[in-house]
Amino acid sequence: MPHKLLILEGDGIGPEIMAEARKVLEVLRRDLGLALEVEQGLIGGAAYDATGSPLPEQTLRLAREADALLLGAVGGSQYEHLPRELRPERGLLGLRSELGLFSNLRPAILYPQLAAASTLRPAVVSGLDLMIVRELTGGIYFGQPRGIRTLSTGEREGYNTLVYRESEIERIARSALDIAMKRDRRLCSVDKANVLEVSELWREVMTSVAQDYPQVQLSHMYVDNAAMQLVRAPKQFDVVVTANMFGDILSDAAAMLTGSIGMLPSASLDGAGKGMYEPIHGSAPDIAGRSRANPLAMILSLAMLLRYTLDQADLAARLERSVGAVLDAGWRTQDILSQRAREASTVQMGDAVVAALRST
Ligand code: NAD
Repeated sequence: MPHKLLILEGDGIGPEIMAEARKVLEVLRRDLGLALEVEQGLIGGAAYDATGSPLPEQTLRLAREADALLLGAVGGSQYEHLPRELRPERGLLGLRSELGLFSNLRPAILYPQLAAASTLRPAVVSGLDLMIVRELTGGIYFGQPRGIRTLSTGEREGYNTLVYRESEIERIARSALDIAMKRDRRLCSVDKANVLEVSELWREVMTSVAQDYPQVQLSHMYVDNAAMQLVRAPKQFDVVVTANMFGDILSDAAAMLTGSIGMLPSASLDGAGKGMYEPIHGSAPDIAGRSRANPLAMILSLAMLLRYTLDQADLAARLERSVGAVLDAGWRTQDILSQRAREASTVQMGDAVVAALRST
């Protein structure tokens, strides 16, 4: 049975960058033998406009049936006046929680051709290729009790709860170890075990689950040191796994090392390989409709989908090599434009990847 893919274009530049990913998908299916059934659904502001909901029942049904979801981006200023539950972003959050997507994969890759785009020295970041696996549905962002209360003294106090059950730690450990097995087999678990009991348990469970993966080299690092190492010598990392809040912060720092938001894909997975794949950037309303968006984060999201849900490592590597070849050939959209290059449109960039994919 072919796998099922659900395409969700979303808002702003979403449809433009997805059009380029569709071209790539067509080559993969027609010329390179990828068996895949493709459906399309509405999400975000586009879904709200058409149905009154940012996550229509029909989309949810298709999402449950699909093995993988490929999503453009959602959001736009015209929706900002809406009540929170009708805003485009609710569509995304709803999908993540309905599908139980607890493992957030955020690669930070810096193609050597773009090393000048980083704020760090090229020697420190050129060729960077690390993956941060962030626990997405637990930890302090969801822990109960939480709130703001007034003490007997009349002073107000805000409080949140950092809590992880063993089973939650175990499943994110397995997810990260599985990913490490598909990469360089080195996993660094980041915690704050010198201060937090939750981290003590985190470290203990990580160590115990890793015994099932003898090929993976597991190490541990305190989060403050990890933040420092990320900007000092980021190439030392292969896969990093960490809790929700630490991952939120570290993955943004890692993304900025690469200096190019239009290049970075991401994924959110459940425990069975099902995943939602999307660029890390938003709907970029400032450039929407002008063929100025970089489609490479979208196309690289498709490469992640090939690797992590469809188990097509060869096709994923071939697509990533095609992106490298396009950069080698000097193709640049405005966000990664260097002084000597000429600006390519979204469509030209997509076409260049398609041509490279056919010939690599
Ligand atoms: P953004 O990521 O959309 O844009 C930030 C800047 O990066 C803009 O200048 C934009 O032009 C540029 N940029 C983004 N993607 C690009 C690409 N592929 N190529 C070239 N340049 C690109 O963030 P924002 O402006 O803060 O948010 C815009 C909207 O997107 C908001 O409604 C926000 O809520 C939403 N948003 C959605 C997601 C998502 O769908 N996952 C993520 C972040 C923000």
